[in-house]
Amino acid sequence: MRKIEHIGIAVTDLEKSNEVFSRLLGKKHFKTERVEGEGVETSFFQVGETKVELLQATRSDSPIAKYLGKKGEGVHHIAFDVEDIHAEVERLKQEGFEILNEIPKEGADNKLVVFLHPRSTNGVLVELCQEKK
Ligand code: ZN
Repeated sequence: MRKIEHIGIAVTDLEKSNEVFSRLLGKKHFKTERVEGEGVETSFFQVGETKVELLQATRSDSPIAKYLGKKGEGVHHIAFDVEDIHAEVERLKQEGFEILNEIPKEGADNKLVVFLHPRSTNGVLVELCQEKK
């Protein structure tokens, strides 16, 4: 893994949170993107090499909606940038981590993404992401 690509934060009102984070970070988000498959609307802030991804549910059965219902707003996942997501999935399987989707799926921001189950990573939902080539 090469760096923390972004930190995902679950929010209930993306518009309000964009305003909060633009005041916090001293800059505006540089894009918003809807990922239909995940039922999520996202916005991204660049902070040095890393991004902050705000996530709002677009329907009540999406994973983010369920998360918000259970835990409320807050840090949802940490995403690590990887060079070869398939190789990294193999390596992590060998290491005994529980992979939620072994076949990478389309994420926001032109990425292929895989998630690890938090019960194998001390309660942290980990995302691997590889830039699509
Ligand atoms: Zn993410």
